[in-house]
Amino acid sequence: MTLRFFIALWASIFITGCAAAETKNSSDNDIEAFVEANILGIFFHELGHALIDIEGIPIFGQEEDAADALSIFLIDAFYEEEAAQDLAYDAALGFWAEAEARDQNGDGIAWWDNHGPDEQRFYNTICIFYGADPERREQFARDLNLPEERAESCVEEFDQINKSWGELIEDLTKRQSGSKLTLRASESSLSAETLQPEIDALNQEMSLSTALTVNVAPCGEANAFYDPEERAITMCLEFEDHLRALAKNL
Ligand SMILES: [Zn+2]
Repeated sequence: MTLRFFIALWASIFITGCAAAETKNSSDNDIEAFVEANILGIFFHELGHALIDIEGIPIFGQEEDAADALSIFLIDAFYEEEAAQDLAYDAALGFWAEAEARDQNGDGIAWWDNHGPDEQRFYNTICIFYGADPERREQFARDLNLPEERAESCVEEFDQINKSWGELIEDLTKRQSGSKLTLRASESSLSAETLQPEIDALNQEMSLSTALTVNVAPCGEANAFYDPEERAITMCLEFEDHLRALAKNL
């Protein structure tokens, strides 16, 4: 991997976050870790949409799949092994939890949706992460029940993503100048606390063709989206409670 130089910086961010949660009991910690991991995973997914727009990247296939691929690619690239596995585990489980909640609500799979079914997003996430380092992640794949039939192709799947997203990210890190990300938070929140250090680290390492705003604010629904007209990602504060409910339901 070419992006390992990020690791030291990102690892220190993650460790700081963990220390802050030490006073709570372990089940509360597990829930908050799940919420943080998914806020991060969702942010990296939205960053995928933003980069596709801002950098004019051609996408062959579903943009949602490409954004999911970037999300788990960055978790692999930015974090040391233990932290990366913890984040990938919770980010994958986030999709499984959405599928469980959907079934409990009696809602069918939205085959018409531009996102793949949550079960598929769950396995895609595990497969790409496993494929990045199969020797160290065999137990990870086993814990999350990645079938052998799929596991066989995961190294190749990761390599393809490394050639597409990996090369773009490397290119962004080599730019001598360019625009940056700015966080705008309406109030203090776990989302803002989680994202500010990530955005600071991204800004230290890479430059974009145009400025990108990251809004953290209430929006009346548990959602996150990228608006190409505003060149802004919005992370809705309602997502935090939605993720907590999903974690408790797992
Ligand atoms: Zn999306």
